Amino acid sequence: MKFLMACLQAVLNFFSEILFGCTHGRVTRPFTLGEETYEVCLDCGKQIYYSATEMRRLTPWEIRRMKVARAGEVRVIPINTPLPHLVQRDQKPNVAA
Ligand SMILES: [Zn+2]
Repeated sequence: MKFLMACLQAVLNFFSEILFGCTHGRVTRPFTLGEETYEVCLDCGKQIYYSATEMRRLTPWEIRRMKVARAGEVRVIPINTPLPHLVQRDQKPNVAA
């Protein structure tokens, strides 16, 4: 009976992960490498960013802000392609009448 319940639980977990993805239930302790502090999910291997000062996981918004701050300034790259040729109002189209 115990074996049957373990098999049933494994099957339910399998379909749950297919439908809902990993819940990141089993994670490592938070650790810091370089400037990043994160936990790693033991089931799927995903890095989960962690705040060492506030002792909690970072929200997606906080992760985005952190990555933008580390990437440096926002760069604006000019587009060097010529503008498409437009017909001005003064010009009449070359149409043979
Ligand atoms: Zn996971």
